[in-house]
Amino acid sequence: MSILKVARLGHPVLRGIAGDVTPDQLSSPALQKLIDDMIETMKEYDGVGLAAVQVHEAKKIAVLEVADNPRYPDKPRVPLTVLVNPSFTPLSDETEEDWEGCLSLPELRGIVPRYKSIRVQACDRHGKQLDLVASGFHARVIQHEWDHLHGKVFLDRMRDLSTLAYLQELARYGTAR
Ligand SMILES: [Zn+2]
Repeated sequence: MSILKVARLGHPVLRGIAGDVTPDQLSSPALQKLIDDMIETMKEYDGVGLAAVQVHEAKKIAVLEVADNPRYPDKPRVPLTVLVNPSFTPLSDETEEDWEGCLSLPELRGIVPRYKSIRVQACDRHGKQLDLVASGFHARVIQHEWDHLHGKVFLDRMRDLSTLAYLQELARYGTAR
């Protein structure tokens, strides 16, 4: 397994639309290795999610896991999940705001509104159909990764850019809100 280079904001790959993964592609050793490498890269940089576009692969794949994470302490755990060709539908119009960060926008945090609870349909890494309901931070991570697969980053979803802050300054001065 390898740790991959993470694309930062400004790299065009982050603004493109990722392509669907075909069953043939998914079963290939190259794509299975990409998924392993994405998981290793997410863990190496203490991410809670990583989309393939962030490692320069324009494919609809995202990995997520929330365990004991120093970048997101006090967040509920989410088991390691691989989402291939994910789609989601909000279960209600209800949204909630919380801080988000992104490995492609290092050190930045901002307040982002997201649907509180969503139904997610995807395939797992073996092509098995997944159908799950996620809420709270879990739903937030999935919506953040779904955005990456459609050329968006969390800045595009912020209602108020004045909440944008560097982690170190946030820790030192707290939030202005
Ligand atoms: Zn991100």
